[in-house]
Amino acid sequence: MSEQPTSSTDTMIFLDGVSKRYPDQPKAAVSGLSMEIKRGEFVVLVGPSGCGKTTTLRMINRLVEPSEGRIWIDGQDVTHVDADRLRRGIGYVIQQIGLLPHLTIAQNVALVPKLLGTPKAKRLQRAEELLDLVGLEPSTYARRYPRQLSGGQQQRVGVARALAADPPVMLMDEPFGAVDPIAREKLQLEFLRLQERIRKTIVFVTHDIDEALRLGDRIAIFAEGSRLAQFDTPLEILTNPADDFVRDFVGTGASVRRLSLLKLADVISISTSDAAGLFRTVEVNLEQTVHRALERVLSAGAEGICVKLPTGDSRFISLQALLTAAAQPERVTS
Ligand code: ADP
Ligand code: MG
Repeated sequence: MSEQPTSSTDTMIFLDGVSKRYPDQPKAAVSGLSMEIKRGEFVVLVGPSGCGKTTTLRMINRLVEPSEGRIWIDGQDVTHVDADRLRRGIGYVIQQIGLLPHLTIAQNVALVPKLLGTPKAKRLQRAEELLDLVGLEPSTYARRYPRQLSGGQQQRVGVARALAADPPVMLMDEPFGAVDPIAREKLQLEFLRLQERIRKTIVFVTHDIDEALRLGDRIAIFAEGSRLAQFDTPLEILTNPADDFVRDFVGTGASVRRLSLLKLADVISISTSDAAGLFRTVEVNLEQTVHRALERVLSAGAEGICVKLPTGDSRFISLQALLTAAAQPERVTS
């Protein structure tokens, strides 16, 4: 078996020149795609409909066989391993979650452990732990049937089910796509908190740039034919879009959206203003986002913020200085 053509032990998923041509299709759905995804990283594939996101995701667990190229997971070339076994080791969550209607919620969650031969008592106990993890009280929900749950609750069951075999890798294809906007934002935030605890390597597909910006450690912006227009952090994509396609796809308001991604700690070192004489300030934590700080200043009608530094000193920053600092992306990291 050949070596993965990358030396990094950090790499969890490695796509090397992967293509997919479906029969009778004039163009390749995915063409010569190479990507490296790190262990524990949350990567979002985002792009317009038809650009090959789902195909890329499904090649990783071989629901779709690549026409060309190789895929490595955790250093192993998975292009030729047994596909069923591969899939049991990868969590997969889709929009039409496909809960089995005649099985209880707990039985649905315990499906893969059952296939893997985990004894009944143990797998049902595991199912209850997982329901708890995704915010569904087991004593209320374990014995219910899928139709007795809301759309958002069913999606959580889908996440719990995908986690049941404790796979290192999770593939998620528009998992919250069918949920209404409010429930959706709640699910996104909960899922982020969950990821802080479980630290899976996640590849998440969406066509919604806001969802991508909110969730991803890094975002891969796909253009037609799976051209990787940019693969970078949300902040970098908003600050330095690679081309007009990315700029258009991100849409208006990039500079305002950056404010939600920038923490005060990111900008404060470059603020030269030390406006100790400010008339009225609000006290803001260094870990807050610039967006939150501005909201506090504006709602209090204050002139600036007061930040407590780790040294114990306080730093006063005027509203104007804060805006200037936040608007100078190239100096943010200095
Ligand atoms: P996305 O998820 O980004 O919307 P897909 O990966 O589903 O894109 O599709 C990429 C392209 O491949 C589209 O042109 C789509 O019509 C085509 N395609 C997807 N699945 C199939 C299939 N099973 N057979 C033929 N063509 C397909
Ligand atoms: Mg798709």
